[in-house]
Amino acid sequence: MEKVVIIGSGCAGWTAALYTARADLKPLVLSGRQPGGLLTTTSIVENLPGFPEGVDGYELMTRMQKQAERFGARASFGTVEAADFSQRPFSLNVDGETVQAETVIIATGASHRHLGVPGEDLLETKGVTYCATCDGALPVFRNQPLVVVGGGDSACEEATYLTRFGSVVHLVHRRDSLRASKIMAERVLAHPKIKPVWNSAVTEVLDPAQDKVTGVKLKDFKTGAETILNCAGVFIAIGHGPNTGIFKDQIKMDENGFILHSLGSTMTNVPGVFVAGDCSDHIYRQAITSAGAGCAAGIDAERFLAAQNH
Ligand SMILES: Cc1cc2nc3c(=O)[nH]c(=O)nc-3n(C[C@H](O)[C@H](O)[C@H](O)COP(=O)(O)OP(=O)(O)OC[C@H]3O[C@@H](n4cnc5c(N)ncnc54)[C@H](O)[C@@H]3O)c2cc1C
Repeated sequence: MEKVVIIGSGCAGWTAALYTARADLKPLVLSGRQPGGLLTTTSIVENLPGFPEGVDGYELMTRMQKQAERFGARASFGTVEAADFSQRPFSLNVDGETVQAETVIIATGASHRHLGVPGEDLLETKGVTYCATCDGALPVFRNQPLVVVGGGDSACEEATYLTRFGSVVHLVHRRDSLRASKIMAERVLAHPKIKPVWNSAVTEVLDPAQDKVTGVKLKDFKTGAETILNCAGVFIAIGHGPNTGIFKDQIKMDENGFILHSLGSTMTNVPGVFVAGDCSDHIYRQAITSAGAGCAAGIDAERFLAAQNH
């Protein structure tokens, strides 16, 4: 019987582990298929306070793990396949084995939707990115033409943010108008540095042979014409979804699957089940906000157990 099981080993998971380990609860961290979480896929993190020179994403996550383990957290490569929160102790199916827990902290993160076009995966972190706030300020994008793909609020926000760095921002959208809220769309279309490319889709990212982004191949749906647009970066903003499918029907989520928690606490609608990080946050989606939520979930779980006389 575990006192605390943390599902996920990203910033949220390891921070929750640090706090619950320091409370002597010996948390078990199930790392899932991406040990260290999303940040391990990025080379340099420049916006985490305390690292004036930036820090390698993989190194950061390794350090978070070591710090939590120093106080007694335990890591397992397990992936949760199903959960039963209908009674306590809670039951988790971890790679076919049952793990029982008095409290569970869900920190399973979110996944970005990919375009699925040639060149995209090969050039990820080499000019293809899914987060302007994270990567927009990198030197490689400064004073260069950039492409944002998408037409919703996120795409508009990314495009507006990128105008600070790029020489021009091409906003490529499949339709002839933006899906974003009216005020956001108006602001974007009025911006002198943002050039919409309507009725078009990116069909290929160039150029894997040069190991960097040099442009995108575009298809115009109306004319069928194929063109090449030169750029140094492609920011894909066509949506992202939380990794919460396995908890469906177990806990309350919003219509997009982000787990809901009560106001002023990380507890879900199931007492003893807490949530932290990108799987419950579709707004900020940053390392520091995930770590902050992990801290809160760790404290909430500790207090919950203390109230139950553990
Ligand atoms: C390329 C890139 C660059 C980024 N750069 C920055 C940056 O510079 N600065 C910044 O602040 N943010 C950055 N971000 C965003 C940041 O990575 C995320 O906000 C942060 O990682 C979210 O942390 P998390 O712990 O909520 O989730 P994640 O880091 O996504 O971790 C989720 C964890 O859950 C595990 N998991 C999922 N399902 C299961 C399951 N069923 N069973 C067990 N485990 C499971 C996964 O294996 C993983 O370990 C970047 C993101 C990307 C993709």
